[in-house]
Amino acid sequence: MSNNDNNNENNTTANTDEYEKVCYICRRSESKAGKMINMPGGLCVCADCMQKTFDTINNSDINYDDLMNNMPNMGMFGGFNMMGNDISNRQKVKKKKEDNNKPTDKEKDDTLDLDNLPAPHQIKAMLDEYVIGQDYAKKVMSVAVYNHYKRVATGTMDDIEIEKSNMLMIGPTGSGKTYLVKTLARLLKVPLAITDATSLTEAGYIGDDIESVVSKLLQAADNDVEKAERGIIFIDEIDKIAKKKETRSRDVSGESVQQGMLKLTSKNAMVPQVTVNTRNILFICGGAFPDLENIIKARLNKQSSIGFNSDLKDKYDNDKNILSKVELEDLREFGMIPEFLGRLPIVFSLEGLTEDMLVKIMKEPKNAILKQYQKLLELDEVKLEFDDDALRQIAKKAMEKDTGARALRSIIEEYMLDIMYEIPKDDNIGSVTITADYIEKKGTPLIMMRGQERLPMNNAEA
Ligand code: ADP
Repeated sequence: MSNNDNNNENNTTANTDEYEKVCYICRRSESKAGKMINMPGGLCVCADCMQKTFDTINNSDINYDDLMNNMPNMGMFGGFNMMGNDISNRQKVKKKKEDNNKPTDKEKDDTLDLDNLPAPHQIKAMLDEYVIGQDYAKKVMSVAVYNHYKRVATGTMDDIEIEKSNMLMIGPTGSGKTYLVKTLARLLKVPLAITDATSLTEAGYIGDDIESVVSKLLQAADNDVEKAERGIIFIDEIDKIAKKKETRSRDVSGESVQQGMLKLTSKNAMVPQVTVNTRNILFICGGAFPDLENIIKARLNKQSSIGFNSDLKDKYDNDKNILSKVELEDLREFGMIPEFLGRLPIVFSLEGLTEDMLVKIMKEPKNAILKQYQKLLELDEVKLEFDDDALRQIAKKAMEKDTGARALRSIIEEYMLDIMYEIPKDDNIGSVTITADYIEKKGTPLIMMRGQERLPMNNAEA
């Protein structure tokens, strides 16, 4: 095409078949929005936006000037650049070579078909791709979810008197309780509402009404009642509503909320305007239950001090997996009321994360944080690597904070800020390696120029 063919075309070298126009209003490209309508000043607008503009003008009594001023991207003069600059460059995007956004076959397999539910071991295998460790928890959840949705799909929730698969997860902060539930809901493609038990009070007190959780679920289900009724409700920090040991005043936050939840797990919940049947909703509660370890230990030590084993009185004191030995009586002792525990027949615990697990969490899950940063820098054609020692240092720092894997992101972000700021300054940088020295603030990351050997940042010019 010669430069004179069309005044509205962009006359720069960028005007090749590799580029396509984008709509000035909605920013969609020609391949998505269809043929563009060329406007004076090198602008183009898609047919949809043009139609909307006409509709708005025809259907309302606002005047044309108001419309142009309020239109996104249109500015005061509808995008015409009063400085006379060529803004038509911004009107094109590079065509996609192929549709990278289309889910690959593998990704399509990433979700579960509720009516054709895979066996528990397959559900667990999917969880394995995202959640590190917690094998026991993943196994219990896979079986529970499988049984639950099998009953939902076959409509046998009422027929047989099998208890629902509601669960109680016990595990330290940042061990992956919320993450497990989120991952599960995503894989199952069911709506999920997460709420904090401490924000719930029995109706009448200040705070969220217990039934508001169901509203949240309905929202997560795009107001589709049927969809919400197969959803999951996760109630975090359930340990915080334990019955107080000594209550002289009315117990606002503890027992009464547990009582309120009994109602929720057994009946129809009224959400303004609609009734949601909570029968098929899977309830999962989670909490860190501090001090529960001591209660379990005391029970076990008491048991073992009876009779012949009395010499092993404190053999559980150093047991790292003490939480896995939890029994209902321990939870009752902690302050959970028996009726409420009765609604959560599946009780299991998660392991506290070790340094090794933290290292794996950074790099192995499908959406691992390192992979996310690598992907970001890959867009600048820069290769990002982390030395194993560096990861170990980060894990050590995270362990000190005692908030499980939660600390990882903020620590990594702190170190990556400089990298993400500096690297795009220099087009010649081909790769960056995060070293333990850099994490310990004793050195710099190793950078490699394109076509160069790996060198420390200081020697790069030498
Ligand atoms: P909890 O609910 O137990 O306090 P979270 O599930 O909120 O902890 O964990 C915080 C973050 O740490 C999650 O978003 C996830 O990215 C990461 N994480 C925690 N545990 C794991 C794990 N076992 N595997 C992978 N990532 C994890």
